[in-house]
Amino acid sequence: MSFENLGLSTGLLRAVATQGYTCPTPIQAQGIPVILEGRDVLAGAQTGTGKTAAFTLPMLQRLSSRGHPKANGKGPRALVLAPTRELAAQVGESVSVYGAHLPLKSTVIFGGVGIQPQKDALRRGVDILVATPGRLLDHVQQGTADLSEVEILVLDEADRMLDMGFIHDIRKVLALLPKRRQNLLFSATYSNDIKRLADSLLHQPVLIEVARRNTAAESVTQHVYRVDKDGKRDLLIHLIDDGQWFQVLVFTRTKHGANRLAEQLNRAGIDAAAIHGNKSQGARTKALTGFKDGSLRVLVATDIAARGLDIDRLPHVVNYELPNVPEDYVHRIGRTGRAGEEGAALSLVGSDEVKLLKDIQRLLKKDIPVLQVPVFEPKALAPARQPEPTKKSRSGGGRQQHGKPGGKRPQNNNGSAPSSRRKRRSRGGRPAVVGQA
Ligand code: AMP
Repeated sequence: MSFENLGLSTGLLRAVATQGYTCPTPIQAQGIPVILEGRDVLAGAQTGTGKTAAFTLPMLQRLSSRGHPKANGKGPRALVLAPTRELAAQVGESVSVYGAHLPLKSTVIFGGVGIQPQKDALRRGVDILVATPGRLLDHVQQGTADLSEVEILVLDEADRMLDMGFIHDIRKVLALLPKRRQNLLFSATYSNDIKRLADSLLHQPVLIEVARRNTAAESVTQHVYRVDKDGKRDLLIHLIDDGQWFQVLVFTRTKHGANRLAEQLNRAGIDAAAIHGNKSQGARTKALTGFKDGSLRVLVATDIAARGLDIDRLPHVVNYELPNVPEDYVHRIGRTGRAGEEGAALSLVGSDEVKLLKDIQRLLKKDIPVLQVPVFEPKALAPARQPEPTKKSRSGGGRQQHGKPGGKRPQNNNGSAPSSRRKRRSRGGRPAVVGQA
């Protein structure tokens, strides 16, 4: 199967070739032809499967191949709703990249950044609008987004939008759209809520289900360390140091836990930052950029924040705590071993998490091998930067908390941290050396 067989136009084929894609992924091979036909689609596909191109390529083709008798010519003709700012930004980027040779305009709108540039872009007119639901409704209320000309609606990561409580916003948006339109719903899981949404939204949809990452991603090695809460931090520090891991995505269950762990890693001389919903857009972007370019060694994330992060070939993913929902484990490890690269996923499992582990193994239909916890000397942490109690009471404007976005601030109020940090960083910022799990 090649992209040429899917019926895509030369402009799109050129863009795909520029990306270096040689053959379509399963979701693309199955999705592109039916979306080109104008059918509604219900697709079970996760991040990492190539789902963005699966809906973006045919969407661009349909928008560019037809005449468009619009009343005012400004309203978007395609609307993509995404749960998080990061995912919206990534989809927007894909739209620009794949549409590079087409005369279509697109823009991305999400909260946490100034609204005026978004208003200006909408006023100039766009063909494709990628948005998070809340900010989109802000624009609708202020009269700056007109959804009356939408021909194609995409709900990307619909399950996550429902998890995040966007169902009411989604319903409000749906009420503003023309009745006749094409609907594409992408979701990694099929809960009853998703089924209900799909039933109310889709007309005779084509169902597409692609292999889950856990069956597809054989290149990810998975292991478990049985270690209780108190021992997790020291073990993680040891593993990162000893294995010389230079790009590690660590998952915690809570935002507070992410902040605390990032702070502790920094105190151990390991550059780390937390990324979660309470962080400003600037802090998130900075952390992500640092992580991608290798200057930030560890990104500590909650599930929701990590959703949609497109980080290729991530060598290490660590579940500092197991997720409550087994499917989230699959999403998490889907961050590593992408595009056929080797990756290692490691879970630190306390005695209170054994049931969660069993649920995950049931979903995977296999046991995850348990590694023996190595004997090591725990590393001493530099003292905390300053006493924290006042920060807990939201004095930091809602987003400072314990963590240090960017993880770069020196901890030199008590002496020892800067030198150990410098030593670590000078070992070679790029993830050239990849240790064993
Ligand atoms: P997605 O599931 O949309 O988040 O895409 C995951 C990653 O796969 C992105 O980095 C894409 O650039 C990449 N990708 C998408 N389609 C292909 C393809 N046909 N061949 C190789 N890589 C692809």
